[in-house]
Amino acid sequence: MAANDPHAEKGAQNQALIRAVNERIEKLADEAAHPEFLCECGNTSCIDTIELSLAEYESIRSSPVRFPVKPGHNFSEFERVVEENDRYWVVEKFGVAGALARKLDERSRA
Ligand SMILES: [Zn+2]
Repeated sequence: MAANDPHAEKGAQNQALIRAVNERIEKLADEAAHPEFLCECGNTSCIDTIELSLAEYESIRSSPVRFPVKPGHNFSEFERVVEENDRYWVVEKFGVAGALARKLDERSRA
């Protein structure tokens, strides 16, 4: 992959934004068993939702390079699927996309 792959970069920027929205959903969704989160895939026009328990969301969110996505919403050029179930898949970014996700995560937590 090229050092500055615009697709990977755009995907990572988008995911940082969606992640911020999902963190707000997480704070508001205390009592729902399976609140609906936004799909965190790299497709900037995706508006699909996925059902995750707060514990599931938190465990994925604890890694800066892992994102919950709708099944099939993975981009094999810059991420690998590390978990699959009926409701969602978990992708892990690698290479430039992973480094960028890490950087954006640090910024959002600062
Ligand atoms: Zn998606």
